Formats: sequence, structure tokens, C-alpha cells
Amino acid sequence: MTERVGVYPGTFDPITLGHIDIVRRGAHLVDRLVIGVTTNPAKEPMFSLPERLEMVRREVADIAGNIKVVEFDSLLMDFAEAQGASLILRGLRAVADFEYEYQMAGMNQQLNDKIETVFLMADVSLQPIASRLVKEIARYGGAIDKFVPPAVAADVAAHLGRNPGVARERSPR
Ligand code: ADP
Repeated sequence: MTERVGVYPGTFDPITLGHIDIVRRGAHLVDRLVIGVTTNPAKEPMFSLPERLEMVRREVADIAGNIKVVEFDSLLMDFAEAQGASLILRGLRAVADFEYEYQMAGMNQQLNDKIETVFLMADVSLQPIASRLVKEIARYGGAIDKFVPPAVAADVAAHLGRNPGVARERSPR
């Protein structure tokens, strides 16, 4: 039987507990999961591509399954085809993601109808986690350790030139 390959694309700036949950659950659905880390200059990432690749590799290293982390800077469908993928994996949080994801899946289907986009509902407890908010909270000195693995929290603190120990719980104004 042919190997079932899935691609999980994203910016992962930085990787959060929500992303890691999707990787863990997605890895069961395929024989090989390729995590595609995009350059995405439009989003002006906090972390460079090599930094994000390293973080993602480190954080998924202990997850069971055949998981590979690679960069990509092309049309998602071209990347998925080049990887021999039959499905694209995306995580879906509440309603906010729906319209964008639905539209993207629809357009990707027009580009290549042999590759299915598969959505995993975000875990209820991880639903509110978004890389953008993690960065925003950290920039204002808030604690992000409930949203990202400890080493990622340390990376963000280091990036902001802070000692990780000084991140504080939200203080009343
Ligand atoms: P992109 O720039 O492609 O949106 P992201 O890194 O923000 O990249 O997200 C990659 C994928 O992970 C998207 O499908 C997104 O919906 C999903 N995702 C992000 N945060 C979570 C979360 N907390 N729970 C589940 N899925 C998530």
C-alpha cells in the first residue's frame, strides 16, 4: 500500500501548545507527517526561519510517529505535491479561523483536487492560544508559560532581551 503523507503548514512564530497538540493528533492519521515552516515575510515574524525550524524540531522531537520538519517558500499545493502528500492538515479554532481556512481549502481544492485539506478541531483547553497573542502578551511582560513549552517561553524572553524569570502574572492596573 502506498504511504499516506500529510503536510501541516504554518508560520509557527513561535510554536505553541496548540500547534503541538495538532502535530500529536495529526501524526496518528498519516504514515508520515511533514511540518512545513513557511518563510512568510508578510507576517514579519519575530523569529527567523532557521530559529523557527530549530524550535519546531526541538518541540516535536519526542512525539511518536514519522515526523519531518522542513521549510518551504512556495505555493502550498506545490509544496504538498513535492512531498508526495495526499492531505493537508490544519487546526481550526472557533469561528475566527473558519472563513479564512474555508476559503483557502476551497482555492487549494481548485488547484489540486487530489489533495484533501483535513481540519482538526483545536483542543478545547488550547483553543484560545494564538502565536500572535503569545507575542503580544510577552511584549507587555506577561507570562506565556501556559501557552508555549518552557524552552519556547525562554526563547521569546531571550528575544525580547529579558530574563525568563521576570515574566509576571498579569497585574491589576
Ligand atoms: P499560518 O500563518 O499558516 O496561519 P500558524 O502558525 O498561525 O500559521 O498556524 C498554523 C496552523 O495551526 C493553522 O491551521 C492554525 O489554525 C493552527 N493553529 C494555530 N493555533 C492553534 C491552536 N491553539 N489550536 C489548534 N490549531 C491551531
